[in-house]
Amino acid sequence: MTRTVLLHVVISTEQDVFAVRRQGRHLGAALGLAGQDQIRIAAALSEVGRRLLAALGPVVVDFVLVKELVVAEPDREVRPVSLELRSTAQGAAEDDVVADMALTQGLLDDWQVDRTQRQTTVTMARALPRAAANLGSDEIDAIRADVRTLTAGTAIEELAEHNRQLLATLEEVQAQRDELARLNDELTETNKGVLALYAELTEELAATNRGVVALYAELDQRSEQLRVANEAKTRFLANVSHELRTPVTSVVGLTRLLRDPESDPLTAEQDEQLALVDVSAHSLLGLVNELLDLAKAESGRLAPALERTDLKAIFDTLRGTLRAFPRADATTLVVVDPVGVPAPVTDPILLTQVLRNLITNGLKFTPAGEVRLEAAWEPTGRTVELSVRDTGIGIPPAEHERVFEEFHQVRHALQATVTGTGLGLPYARRLVQILGGTITVDSAPGAGSTFTVCLPLNHEGVAPP
Ligand code: ADP
Repeated sequence: MTRTVLLHVVISTEQDVFAVRRQGRHLGAALGLAGQDQIRIAAALSEVGRRLLAALGPVVVDFVLVKELVVAEPDREVRPVSLELRSTAQGAAEDDVVADMALTQGLLDDWQVDRTQRQTTVTMARALPRAAANLGSDEIDAIRADVRTLTAGTAIEELAEHNRQLLATLEEVQAQRDELARLNDELTETNKGVLALYAELTEELAATNRGVVALYAELDQRSEQLRVANEAKTRFLANVSHELRTPVTSVVGLTRLLRDPESDPLTAEQDEQLALVDVSAHSLLGLVNELLDLAKAESGRLAPALERTDLKAIFDTLRGTLRAFPRADATTLVVVDPVGVPAPVTDPILLTQVLRNLITNGLKFTPAGEVRLEAAWEPTGRTVELSVRDTGIGIPPAEHERVFEEFHQVRHALQATVTGTGLGLPYARRLVQILGGTITVDSAPGAGSTFTVCLPLNHEGVAPP
């Protein structure tokens, strides 16, 4: 802490009280204090000086600039720079004098009285704006010189000055009060606005909530309707196909009987026409069987028989059984042995059906090139991927989802030359779902197609809804 004495004066007469009062005010102004604070200092100084002079005689007044060196102390509010006013008179002041002086206590930040038999000292202090800490010694000398030349005016002059200051202060206070009232009004208005907005928002939120609830109820209702419709469709398909299967099987059987070499001979034309009947009856039987399969898979009654499945065995079976499947001469089937791929827990029969479907599609829609079956596995993953990739005609992106819908077939010149019902892919997707997996397609016209079946390594037998 550094202490610089700015002024040292002695009050010996009433006139000196006025002078000190003036000096205090000027010093306050020079050190950057606002009008009201200057008046506080002036009032406190003159009151203490007047009382001490009357009670004990001459008073020594020191004006000291105090600078704190340690600014940051956690528990204490530190004033880096302040003005200390110390008034000392000889002898011990009476209690009532001290009490009178103490009325000025509220005017400053610190106020303290020390009383011994020999002397009475009142020390008061007021915090200064931080800029006062940077005053150089030249500036302090200039302030000192300036204040020292101030002399007291007459009592009338002082009173007039005092009144002028009081009036200015009153005006300032009035202005502050008006401003406060204005701010208060503004705040009340804003509060009203906020409350109205809040009410509006609450109402809007409630309305939105009601809408969402209604929407959900409708959605629930719709999905229930959809479920019922889907069940009805499945039941219908199952019934119709079942009803059709017996007569169609009879037609197939009868045709075979009529064309049997053991039966009565037919004319060449009859035989030709019966051959046509045979072909149609067979494709009808194929359709009926596929419809029945799909209906069964959709009904939810198809439970997978799960076991640890050797993929290599499945691949071998497919390689063998599809060797004879009709295909273009320029198209080969490549089945890559699944080396190092772990055996998934799944239903081998259903999986074989899915892969057979995908491979036969590949063979049907690849006029030249190859159809390749491969298995892949991520060492850290919990799935195996089985892909059937062909170099065939491809599928436009807009049809990628639609090919999984019942009876949907992509329009293409090749379509007329191959047999198909449009039920293979929907059936395959349903089976893969039963196995807890997914089936996706990646394809573009002319660039071939890749169908990928992704299966869990450890399916627990819970089919997704
Ligand atoms: P389909 O009995 O007609 O093959 P699918 O459900 O298996 O019935 O396939 C539906 C349609 O998807 C096919 O008719 C064909 O248009 C298209 N498609 C399926 N697989 C392929 C493929 N590998 N390449 C090109 N088109 C394909």
